[in-house]
Amino acid sequence: MKVVFSKPVLPDTGALVVGVLQNRRLTPSAKLLDSKMNGELTRAIKASRFKGAKAQTLTILAPVGTKLDRAFVVGLGKAKDIKSLGMQALGGGIYAALGSKGDKMVAVAIDALEGCKLNPAEMAAEVAYGARLRSFQFDKYRTKEKKTDKPTLNTLRVLCSGFARAKTVFAGKEKIADGVFFTRHLVSEPPNVIYPESLANQARTLTKLGVKVQVLNRARMQALGMGALLGVGKGSAREPKMVVMQWHGARQSAAKKRGGRADVPIAFVGKGVTFDSGGISIKPSRGMEDMKWDMGGAGVVIGLMKTLAGRKARVNAVGVIGLVENMPSSTAQRPGDIVTSMSGQTIEVINTDAEGRLVLADALWYCKDRFKPKLIIDLATLTGAIIICLGNQKAGLFSNDDVLAKRIAAAGEVVGEPVWRMPLGDEYDRMLKSDTADVRNISGGHGAGSITAAQFLQRFVDKTPWAHLDIAGVTWSKKDLPTVPKGGTGFGVRLLDCLVANHYESK
Ligand SMILES: [Zn+2]
Repeated sequence: MKVVFSKPVLPDTGALVVGVLQNRRLTPSAKLLDSKMNGELTRAIKASRFKGAKAQTLTILAPVGTKLDRAFVVGLGKAKDIKSLGMQALGGGIYAALGSKGDKMVAVAIDALEGCKLNPAEMAAEVAYGARLRSFQFDKYRTKEKKTDKPTLNTLRVLCSGFARAKTVFAGKEKIADGVFFTRHLVSEPPNVIYPESLANQARTLTKLGVKVQVLNRARMQALGMGALLGVGKGSAREPKMVVMQWHGARQSAAKKRGGRADVPIAFVGKGVTFDSGGISIKPSRGMEDMKWDMGGAGVVIGLMKTLAGRKARVNAVGVIGLVENMPSSTAQRPGDIVTSMSGQTIEVINTDAEGRLVLADALWYCKDRFKPKLIIDLATLTGAIIICLGNQKAGLFSNDDVLAKRIAAAGEVVGEPVWRMPLGDEYDRMLKSDTADVRNISGGHGAGSITAAQFLQRFVDKTPWAHLDIAGVTWSKKDLPTVPKGGTGFGVRLLDCLVANHYESK
């Protein structure tokens, strides 16, 4: 879907979207349309239950007095309550309602509203961004889909004063959407298509944008002593990989003035289990197909790097992803095995389905050891327990740094990817005590499954400021959300991009 911005002149034909405020107060565009319709718009609104409340809609086909096919009236609520996220949701709602109705082009009229904190150009850009986010489709394998079931909308025309400004604002947001789409695409692909090597190849495409991409093979990881990660891949015919992505966007001079730490990056680490059968501790077959998106954390890191490079973020950022397939076979890791991680810590593998933390143990340590980053944020579809805690509404946040945790939570609120901070503590760490090794990979006690998993990870970051996002509940959505069609959500890309923009870019 193409997005164009133009002058606030209402079209005579096609489909037109106009807004109405709370208590049926017509916006200037709605008033203009109403006068073209000789007052029939007001009459239609009165005849319906449409009150102009947020997210209410009303469709009028072939509105009288015009040559329009369709007028789509959207409720804006109160002008003073209009916010960016609400405008994005409105854009998403417009796409959801009109994307497959037969219209090739839809015009959306955006007005200056008294008492509203956003100007028309800002509102226009947010509406367009929301529509773009909602328009994601993954239908490449649906080869027999009827033409009448396919989306028809190919151009969204947003009408507003200051449309040149809207275009500029949207151009920045479009780079974020590009990263989100890449992530959604990667988590949607089936596990026979996306496996460690092919996912590494997908990451390699970022070199086009100036990202330095390096892929470590099994021999290299063996030489580095990554016994924890390699143990997980032992049952699979697919060779494990680790991908290191580097984006150097910080302005040297500015960074050097602050004490010569020009090269110190911030780092993102992702769990990339391209398919998680559970290994020898095999999962029940019901729902096992979902385990294709157990590489969601790695997918977010790749999408984030695409966004940062795409918008030329003035930051040095590193992305490290550990890619393995967890399969049962005669060569697979067994419960009871003891592996030695790159950090030197030995790990007793009690359950081969608690493999994400084993992958991250080596990815985190490698990242910390090689780059000595300012901070590390890891993302992982790590535990089912986090879904028990927080459902599909929020991601779990764990951190050894209060400032970092606050910044992440605040960014999540801004972009509508909320997180909830969970505790860490020695009392949880003690639950990982092993009789035969330095640590065991699942707790010996009951409960707190997400916390003990985070506690495990903390053993591999030393004193580095670190945060862990358990995204098991938010990586995939079984229903449509305002700006997220059902399927892979890309949760995390917008959040971390916002975090970088707010706190870690050089001026
Ligand atoms: Zn698992």
